Amino acid sequence: MAPQQPPPMQCWISGEPAAACCRFCGRCVAEAYRQNLPFFLAVYVGAEQTTKVIVVKDAVWCGVCRPQPEPIELPELY
Ligand SMILES: [Zn+2]
Repeated sequence: MAPQQPPPMQCWISGEPAAACCRFCGRCVAEAYRQNLPFFLAVYVGAEQTTKVIVVKDAVWCGVCRPQPEPIELPELY
């Protein structure tokens, strides 16, 4: 018995076959709905206390989710 193939991913918006998945929320979208946003891969403090960011400038974005512009504090975790 051959292993079953998983069903193809469908576009969150149109139901067409998906071309890419959003880096921010994981929704998949067809090429027509694919957009791009910069994605901050890492933020750290470098030499002389300068904040530095490693950015992927054209990460896939679904256009549906709304990445927050500022970090959200979670003091209850510590
Ligand atoms: Zn998204």
